[in-house]
Amino acid sequence: MKRWKYYLFCVGVMTLTLLCAYWGSMAVTVISEELPFVRKHCVVIDPGHGGEDGGATSCTGRMESAYNLAISRRLDDLLHLLGYQTRMTRTSDVSIYTTGDTIARKKISDLKERVRIVNETPGAVFISIHQNLFSDARYSGAQVFYAKTDGSKELGQKLQSELVTALNPGSNRKSKPISGVYLMENIQCTGVLIECGFLSNPREEAKLRNAEYQKKLCCVIGATLSQQLSNT
Ligand SMILES: [Zn+2]
Repeated sequence: MKRWKYYLFCVGVMTLTLLCAYWGSMAVTVISEELPFVRKHCVVIDPGHGGEDGGATSCTGRMESAYNLAISRRLDDLLHLLGYQTRMTRTSDVSIYTTGDTIARKKISDLKERVRIVNETPGAVFISIHQNLFSDARYSGAQVFYAKTDGSKELGQKLQSELVTALNPGSNRKSKPISGVYLMENIQCTGVLIECGFLSNPREEAKLRNAEYQKKLCCVIGATLSQQLSNT
């Protein structure tokens, strides 16, 4: 390349870099100006299972606990960007029991710890992240289960409809009240459990491992939650 062309090329790259930095700072300024208020809710994110309790095993042999943690971390990042305080019941592949000498007793202790974390958090809203599994590989789609506490049904219904629209068009899955799940029956705040998809369906399992799909899923959850909470 001739020397003058090289200088021209360098000037072009520098100009582009400066413009990108300017636009970037503008975007940050706009976002921070959009958030002059303090959010009154703290979102407690619960990546289901963990440690010796791996949950369901996917059709590719992966443990449900890993999908739950990856999606929960992305949701945590996104909610911070939206200005929310968050708390995660676990941030690594662990069970959070404090007592117990058998797997069953450790599981009970783990669930009690999760309930304690939720119920001791002021202004908590609870989101538990899980994955579904069924013997028939045809079934797919996210499904939302809601607690009996105030605001849970409305949040569950809205999340279900937004997830269907954005991720599972044509799905006729409906949100449902949850029963027989210790954690969901003992929380005192608004709470939902989201089964993000079926680990028994090869196409959906591949999506649930995909970073872009996880981001899309979290965008739907984060935007819906933010919209619902701003109404309360
Ligand atoms: Zn699960």
